Amino acid sequence: MKLISGSTLWPGTLHPRFKYPVLEGEIFCDCLIIGGGMGGALSAKLLAEKGLHAVVIDKREVGRGSSMASLGLLQYSNDKTLTSCIHTFGEQRGVRFYELCRLAMQQLKDTISTLDIDPWYIPRTSLYCASSEEDVALLEEEYHTLQNYAFDVELWSRNKISTHFPFSKPNALYTKGDAEVNPYMLVHSLLHSASKKGAQVYERTEMIHCEYGEDVVLCYTPTGTIRAKQVIFSTGYETQEIKRDRGAYLQSTYAIATKPLKDLSSWYNQSLIWETARPYLYMRTTPDGRIVAGGLDEEIPHDDQRAIRAKLRGETLLKKIADHFPLPDLAIDYAWEAVFGSTHDGFPLIGPHPEYPNCYFIEGYGGNGTVYSMIAASILTDVITGVQNDDMELFSLTRTNKPSPV
Ligand SMILES: Cc1cc2nc3c(=O)[nH]c(=O)nc-3n(C[C@H](O)[C@H](O)[C@H](O)COP(=O)(O)OP(=O)(O)OC[C@H]3O[C@@H](n4cnc5c(N)ncnc54)[C@H](O)[C@@H]3O)c2cc1C
Repeated sequence: MKLISGSTLWPGTLHPRFKYPVLEGEIFCDCLIIGGGMGGALSAKLLAEKGLHAVVIDKREVGRGSSMASLGLLQYSNDKTLTSCIHTFGEQRGVRFYELCRLAMQQLKDTISTLDIDPWYIPRTSLYCASSEEDVALLEEEYHTLQNYAFDVELWSRNKISTHFPFSKPNALYTKGDAEVNPYMLVHSLLHSASKKGAQVYERTEMIHCEYGEDVVLCYTPTGTIRAKQVIFSTGYETQEIKRDRGAYLQSTYAIATKPLKDLSSWYNQSLIWETARPYLYMRTTPDGRIVAGGLDEEIPHDDQRAIRAKLRGETLLKKIADHFPLPDLAIDYAWEAVFGSTHDGFPLIGPHPEYPNCYFIEGYGGNGTVYSMIAASILTDVITGVQNDDMELFSLTRTNKPSPV
């Protein structure tokens, strides 16, 4: 699957990048992780810390899947509001999901603090804006719901927004405890750290076929074989080419990074900004003075159109940035189109699948993919090391979405 068209900002920020060999011959391990993106890297780090012998393989160079397209916003709030999660899944599961996202934010911070290479992690606040007057009530309701379950949130009026930013919106939620990161550097930094703890990483090594035995999985690559007691499929959106999930769907999304700007002081606290419209516009700044923005999701265009769409939609994104921040030196430096996966019910897919014995899947589909990858890595590390984790059931690949009794 072609995951990205155009060029993304992040790979040029890591010099030199860490390189890993191609697998040749036969090896054994406790846990094979297929996919060296955010989900695979976080799992490798956590499993290696528990003393398990983990092997990571990636058919590309590591970090060059969708993780390289991410804008690196880390937020506990989701595309689906807490209010909506409670409606769909019931109070217990809806609130637990938001608690897990908040916990994952802390786990990301703790994990990143142990890394040798700084992946540009910076704590941030978020501004979630009502895109129109019709969404004012939605944010008011969400404000009360979040407060009710002890999430730190403020409701900002139009007046307050326009005293802090050079734009106006009907209202907004202002939350603390979020962060930004360089996602490509984070993947590399995690894998570097995991490999120092004994994980083996192989790139340009594709899983072409697996055989599932009673207590071993045999994974074949073009030049090697891996015998693993357990396997984590962290193959991102390409998991849909391995097994199709009825609850998931893929679209195209667009993003740009501007050239470094002289003055971003009108951007209050360099907050992460997003909105209630769907698909939503989202924006952040970078430590080297750029604005990165994304959105404008649509059906995946034909392959020969994707690079052109990246350029055209990039220009629209730049206009949208200018509507919010009318800066004189706004210009596009990078523009990209990328496949983006979501689930119909808004929860990621994490856990085993009946047709794949001794295997687990990480499908962190949705705008909060990094936070979902953290949740997944944490749950699967428990399960693989024999620790019961009741949260896995929330994200079951075979769930039917019956709300839990209140
Ligand atoms: C434009 C855009 C913006 C985004 N912005 C954000 C954001 O701001 N914040 C956020 O949290 N999330 C964001 N996301 C989502 C985020 O990028 C993803 O959730 C996350 O990176 C997925 O990580 P992953 O490890 O699951 O997938 P990937 O990074 O795609 O990693 C999977 C890896 O598996 C490998 N692979 C696949 N098949 C095989 C095989 N057969 N054998 C070996 N290797 C294989 C691939 O080469 C790939 O490297 C964004 C996504 C896009 C597209």
